[in-house]
Amino acid sequence: MEKRIYNFSAGPAVLPEEVLLEAQKDFYSYKGQGLSVMEMSHRSKTYDNIIKEAEADLRKLLDIGDNYSVLFLQGGATLQFSMVPLNIMQSKADYIVTGSWSKKAVKEAKRVGTVNIAASTESENFIRIPKQEELKLDPEASYVHFTSNNTIFGTQFHNEPEVGNVPLVCDTSSDMLHKKIDINKYALIYAGAQKNMGPSGSTLVIVRKDLLERSSDDLHTYLNYKIHAEKESLYNTPPTFSVYIMGLVFKWLLNMGGLDKMYERNLAKANVLYDYMDSTDGFYKGTAAKEDRSLMNVTFRLPNEDLEKKLIAEATEKGFIGLKGHRSVGGLRASIYNAFPSKGVDDLVEFMKDFKAKN
Ligand code: PMP
Repeated sequence: MEKRIYNFSAGPAVLPEEVLLEAQKDFYSYKGQGLSVMEMSHRSKTYDNIIKEAEADLRKLLDIGDNYSVLFLQGGATLQFSMVPLNIMQSKADYIVTGSWSKKAVKEAKRVGTVNIAASTESENFIRIPKQEELKLDPEASYVHFTSNNTIFGTQFHNEPEVGNVPLVCDTSSDMLHKKIDINKYALIYAGAQKNMGPSGSTLVIVRKDLLERSSDDLHTYLNYKIHAEKESLYNTPPTFSVYIMGLVFKWLLNMGGLDKMYERNLAKANVLYDYMDSTDGFYKGTAAKEDRSLMNVTFRLPNEDLEKKLIAEATEKGFIGLKGHRSVGGLRASIYNAFPSKGVDDLVEFMKDFKAKN
């Protein structure tokens, strides 16, 4: 078999090898049925089992109760920036702004109603997460929206903001399933699949059923959560192959021991990289405030841009790809999602040590 490279891409991102091999086994003819999942009717019994099993496994992983609907939609997390306010904003909502993706969510919400910026760390270049006491929350808000992990800036909420009785909505695109969360703290969670769950094409939405009552019948059909919930994600053709792979990823997570185990692994992996960076007297300098560092996207800089370019070029040659920071911020970023192997982080640190010694 061909050798795999270490893929630090922020998304679409690395998938578990076991999942790829399993899919490969069934790619040409799914379980001996003579056709691939991609060619199968979404109304077939076989596909129905695939999507139902994916949902059941996700429910197991996160202990999702019957009071929540699980939806597999399309349009990326980006469409959720619109669907959330269109469905559940009654007149005004609070947004906690911690990076470019939260800003994009705000932009769409403003088309629907009044947005109150409960806090923003933009004036500090989004290097940190606002503290609870900084949040200016409106108890009358339809919901509070936050971005749990800031893919570009490498920061992450390590605890949910406390919002009282106001429904909590979260874009978890880049840290979904990286640890066990208490789903009951949330009214709605959404995430594009392509970082921690599967290939692009599918967007997961977990929504508490009482919120569905807010979806107006005047909404365009595809934009209406209530319709998708009633039709169990089969109102129209779902992203069939993407959901299938997500299902395999959920099984992989269960086999790995579930989300508490995955969290231990993620913590250990990120610490290897952060601890090394912190031991280099600023040669490798983390860009995020220490207490808010992301376990998923490790962002850092070198003493100058020439060295950064050199490192990226040499790393690419050695089979470490995707280390370039987002085009809007520069620097470097190592995305180390669930499926990223620990050995890849160890090998990257060895490479960084060698690079430092030579430069
Ligand atoms: N939110 C976050 C936190 C993201 O990282 C991204 C993608 N990088 C998005 C939203 C947008 O996702 P999509 O491309 O699936 O629309």
